[in-house]
Amino acid sequence: MDTISVDFGGTFIKIGLIRDGHVADFTDTPSYSGKGLTPRLAVVETIVAELLEKNAMTAGELNGIGIAIPGLVDATEKRVLSTNAKYNDAINFSFTRWVDKTFNVPFIIENDARAALAGEVFHGGAQGSEDAVMMIFGTGIGTAAMINGQLLRGKHHQAGVLGGHFITDHAGYMCTCGNKGCVEAQASNWSLPIVARERAGFNKSRLADADHVDYKSVVENARAGDDFSESFLEDLIEHWAAGLTNLVHAYDPSTVILSGGLMKSKDYLLPKIKARVLERTWTPWGQPEFLAAEKPEHSVLLGLHHLTVTEYRKTKGVL
Ligand SMILES: [Zn+2]
Repeated sequence: MDTISVDFGGTFIKIGLIRDGHVADFTDTPSYSGKGLTPRLAVVETIVAELLEKNAMTAGELNGIGIAIPGLVDATEKRVLSTNAKYNDAINFSFTRWVDKTFNVPFIIENDARAALAGEVFHGGAQGSEDAVMMIFGTGIGTAAMINGQLLRGKHHQAGVLGGHFITDHAGYMCTCGNKGCVEAQASNWSLPIVARERAGFNKSRLADADHVDYKSVVENARAGDDFSESFLEDLIEHWAAGLTNLVHAYDPSTVILSGGLMKSKDYLLPKIKARVLERTWTPWGQPEFLAAEKPEHSVLLGLHHLTVTEYRKTKGVL
């Protein structure tokens, strides 16, 4: 089956033509997500038209379109319920009307972290795992949970996706969500510069000379032996492990999947994070397996494909 996946990310909009669980063609474009969704729709329409033309297809031949948004999404009513500084105009936008008018094919819409988890479970490195949680280290920290092969959505559509806002320091920094001491406020790419600069010894550290204080520069300087960066990274690992421990305790997974930019250093970080979580979790049945997403840039697109194909089969009564 052929579907189009549109992943409205914070920095880039990724658009793929997905064929039977594989990315057949792919392109991306800057998102300028702070300025809203609607200013970028014409570009998305053009890119989709180009992808179809390049692959000698028409929109009518598609089995559907999947859309991912970084916010709280009602997948049943196909609406965006709440956003946090990205695509704020998506809340009042009728995706149904847009897709009907532009493409006239079945479509689904989902939170981006849920789509990524579906991608890893159904088409990625976690195939066969029906009970899984995911933590994605992007600009912020996204999470999702799956129980018995079903993405957890919940009564108010926010189940599983607010793990970046688990509290890992009740006396910590204010978060953009209104809460205090969230793992995202303590240890995400957007909060690292704030947290690092207030930490004793920053000005004398090698990190102070870096162009940007981010995951990459902290890990690089820690690995190069900078004392400040080493102890800072230790602290960050504590926060990530605390967030993951909360996910394990909350959702009882067999598989824990980590993804996002931080996993570029997976060989160095994953064993440390895993060890810290396993020290802390109460799982008398055994130990969850830890994986890094194999192709993190494709997880959302592939998850949208799975959800779109499922919707197509439901709509058409095809098994
Ligand atoms: Zn928060």
